[in-house]
Amino acid sequence: MRAAALGQNAAMKYVVCVPDGCADEPFDGLDGRTPLEVAHTPTLDALCARGEVGRAAVIPDGLPPGSDVGNMSILGYDPAEFHTGRAPIEAASLGLVLPDDRLAYRCNLVTLGDDGVMVDFAGGHPSTDAAVRAIEALDAELGRGSDSGLEFHAGVEYRHIMVAPADWGDAECVPPHDLTGDPAVWPTGPASDRLREVMEASRPVLAASGLDANQIWLWGQGFQPTMPAFSARFGVTGGITTAVDLVRGLGVLTEMAVPDVDGATAGYDTDYAAQRDAALAGLDAGLELFVIHVEATDEAGHAGDAAEKVRSLERWDAEILAPLVPALDERGPWRLLLLPDHATPLRLRTHTSDPVPYLLVGAGVPTSGPDVYTEAAVGGETPVAGHDLMGRLLGV
Ligand SMILES: [Zn+2]
Repeated sequence: MRAAALGQNAAMKYVVCVPDGCADEPFDGLDGRTPLEVAHTPTLDALCARGEVGRAAVIPDGLPPGSDVGNMSILGYDPAEFHTGRAPIEAASLGLVLPDDRLAYRCNLVTLGDDGVMVDFAGGHPSTDAAVRAIEALDAELGRGSDSGLEFHAGVEYRHIMVAPADWGDAECVPPHDLTGDPAVWPTGPASDRLREVMEASRPVLAASGLDANQIWLWGQGFQPTMPAFSARFGVTGGITTAVDLVRGLGVLTEMAVPDVDGATAGYDTDYAAQRDAALAGLDAGLELFVIHVEATDEAGHAGDAAEKVRSLERWDAEILAPLVPALDERGPWRLLLLPDHATPLRLRTHTSDPVPYLLVGAGVPTSGPDVYTEAAVGGETPVAGHDLMGRLLGV
């Protein structure tokens, strides 16, 4: 493909910037403006003035507006072709390689009230150490210590993985964060009885664990997707910095470098400079493309915190983009793509499937489109498919 041929130009460097969920809607708390309209972002503005600003559909019709789907698009893989579920991507981030006849469920540690209400989808946010002990106990009782055919694999805090035989996958499951404060809606479908049985069987095991969490909740199941390596697909080598399991898992599945970066977190306190420097270090080590994924804007959207969402955009500009541009200039020709994986409007506090603005800028990219990066500036445009932008970045 043309992109691969151009990608073999070793001098060109590529950076992809993903402020997770940064796109929004006009918000009353910002006088009817969006965080992108309010934030002071002089470097982003300057890049828009010399690049291409347009509108991208990162969430294909019929798929949920999750970070797994949106980031798969951004990496250049059509989710309609490659997305099989959320849990198998997270399983990859734990290093699990699943055979064809096994699938993965996300296994949350949750807190249900005596009345069956989902009190906390995060089970009181247990420490990872305490959660690992509980998952080991579950694996001994209900998983590999039994003849159930199930396996429990510990992840981080309340987020874990259950691996099951293929015929356990035929069920409709509701994500527990969609049930907060409501009566739990149990799985339906052919495998639902077995799922409910193991979820209920987790209660006495967790009661002995001392955690606030009192049950597991299974959802997001799927077989592990077969994704060609990024370097094979696009002819360039890539790396990614992220503190989010799902995005990390996409990096693992596509055989990108996924370095651990000290100070990178999924919260407001992430070390923006450390994530920026990880990208530059990756490029200096010979990678041709590096993805910088920062979760803070999405967190602010979920919290409905307009000030924090604006602040995280301004930190993107001051601490990532402003130093990054001259650092890239020193290294030779470069191109940069910036877009979120979905919108997380402050008003809704959840993700939407709306198309998002993108910026493509750098060597050989003509100036086109509006000269500002806002939702309204591209609102009238027919969106391009999000997964086509990677090829555009590499080939233009
Ligand atoms: Zn996201």
